[in-house]
Amino acid sequence: MTSARTDLRFLIIGAGMSGILSAIELKKAGYDDFVIYEKADRLGGTWRENTYPGIACDVPSHFYSYSFAPNPEWSHRFSPGAEIQAYFEEVARRYEVASRIRFGQEVTRCAFEGGCWKIELADGSTDEGDFVIAATGVLHHPAYPDIAGLDSFAGACFHSARWDHDVALAGKRVGVVGTGSSAIQIVSALVDEVAELTLFQRTPQWVAHADNPAYSDEQKAEFRRRPEAMQELRAQVSRAFTEGFANVLIDAESPVLQAIHQSCEANLENNVADPALRERLRPTYRAACKRLVLSGNFYDAIQRRNAKLVTEPIERIEASGVRTRDGRLHELDVLVLATGFRVDRFVRPMQVIGRNGIALDDVWGDGPSAFLAISVPGFPNFFMLNGPSSPVGNFSLIDVAELQFAYVLQLVEQVRSGACDEICASRDAMQRFEAERKVAAKTTIWNSGCKSWYLDRNGLPTAWPWTFDRFRQEMSEPQLDDYEMRRRGAPA
Ligand code: NAP
Repeated sequence: MTSARTDLRFLIIGAGMSGILSAIELKKAGYDDFVIYEKADRLGGTWRENTYPGIACDVPSHFYSYSFAPNPEWSHRFSPGAEIQAYFEEVARRYEVASRIRFGQEVTRCAFEGGCWKIELADGSTDEGDFVIAATGVLHHPAYPDIAGLDSFAGACFHSARWDHDVALAGKRVGVVGTGSSAIQIVSALVDEVAELTLFQRTPQWVAHADNPAYSDEQKAEFRRRPEAMQELRAQVSRAFTEGFANVLIDAESPVLQAIHQSCEANLENNVADPALRERLRPTYRAACKRLVLSGNFYDAIQRRNAKLVTEPIERIEASGVRTRDGRLHELDVLVLATGFRVDRFVRPMQVIGRNGIALDDVWGDGPSAFLAISVPGFPNFFMLNGPSSPVGNFSLIDVAELQFAYVLQLVEQVRSGACDEICASRDAMQRFEAERKVAAKTTIWNSGCKSWYLDRNGLPTAWPWTFDRFRQEMSEPQLDDYEMRRRGAPA
């Protein structure tokens, strides 16, 4: 008989949306021994790192908020990045977890030794705890394109997630490489400021039209007076999102996806006047195969007099600009690489060592995986938020992380109650999950004939391949049969 543990210590890695969430939820659950390690000097994760012009979240703000911290002050349906950053900072202060963040502390190694997690930091210091919560983010490590001559460009050149605000753009000739959500927001925001804007498109994107009205002072006052109005709005958006999108992605043939495709086609037909430009902007794959781009002003922007769409492939980059395969040189002062992220990194480059010295990097030799996106066999008391095969893309990752952390707390409870000291997914459960996931991935819209960051190196979608309702249901309660629960020091 083992008694309940009251001394559990948690090491949270990352002070972005999910790290802050973890700290708040731990406090609410009565755990007070936790620390958040953050490599940067500010919290906010993706919203700290991405500061490009036009940055906003294309998930409605009243849905892209913590469920327990509605915000009556959101300025727009899709509020800008700086407001979201300020929101996370304010919530972290209000819930008194900001003081638990150790800034400028990068965790380089975590190892499960002697029944607990020992971590090493870049400055040589160490710490230990019973649990690691890896809240390290998904779209985090910029992917730089492998284009010949990139280093030879004489002007300013930076990635969209590393925006150089010292570079003045007014009156400049600016090139943007990429047509993902970042590029579309950048182009729409910059076109009126710069002298010339050239968008280098390798693959066209389907764009779903989305207006972005501001909330009036009266609406905000109503939200303040009646917080339940925000909850009603959130529930309404959540329902529409689940039924009208997240539940149908798994069935490429679903009528809802066909309707989304038709509305993207109509957006292109109705809003791009020049038939030649329209055809160059028309994708050949299904809408939502790549992450759907939402925008109310991209088509306007790309039709401005000073905007140019280049669809000829890039041959190389030279000191004065971008040379395309047709031999043309597109002269530029500034080059923005909106070329996405290395999405298979997850907790890496941090080294994670599980039971018996096994390295996560080796376990992930064929690509990252985790049971229900949370736990890896052989890595007890180590849990990931927004980990491999989480629902990603056009989702509120806050909603996802909240569901995941509620589940993680139930795993923690097994240790707290004394039912075990160490808990992680069993190898059988992991194998079954991966086998089923791979079968299900094949019929998703992401596998309908396009290239995107959703695909692994074998071309199979990596994201949660079932309905969002199933995700919600799986997260409601762990099936303990899927877990290996051990006493400390028990033989393997
Ligand atoms: P992305 O969707 O991965 O797009 C990268 C773009 O760069 C693609 O158009 C890609 O072309 C292009 N590209 C990459 N390498 C290239 C090369 N060598 N030559 C020419 N083009 C190249 O990246 P992202 O726009 O940064 O978005 C990533 C994710 O971040 C999004 O899908 C979304 O989940 C998230 N995001 C969300 C929001 C939001 O509002 N919520 C905003 C921005 C980003 P191909 O298509 O041909 O590969």
